[in-house]
Amino acid sequence: MSGDTPTHPDAGGISDPYAERIAGETDVTWQCAVAANDEFDPADPEYCPHEPETVTLDEPASIDGDGKIQLPGRPVDCPECGNPYEFLVNRLVVTFV
Ligand SMILES: [Zn+2]
Repeated sequence: MSGDTPTHPDAGGISDPYAERIAGETDVTWQCAVAANDEFDPADPEYCPHEPETVTLDEPASIDGDGKIQLPGRPVDCPECGNPYEFLVNRLVVTFV
């Protein structure tokens, strides 16, 4: 299992798109992952019409020692379908458990 997060962003030269594109951001693009998934069409009962929106966080996003993305003040669920756990944040899939 993972859990070894480089203590330094440049450690090992590993490119982490989450660290690069989300960490430190206060305004993030937020979209329900169901809506972003083109496997569903509007006739599908699981279809979600949520459009990407910009949300302003209470504090800049960060990644904790376990590699979990922290988005203080984020919306808790999708306003369209109620999905509470999977979203696209700055076009990257983020799962909340
Ligand atoms: Zn949704």
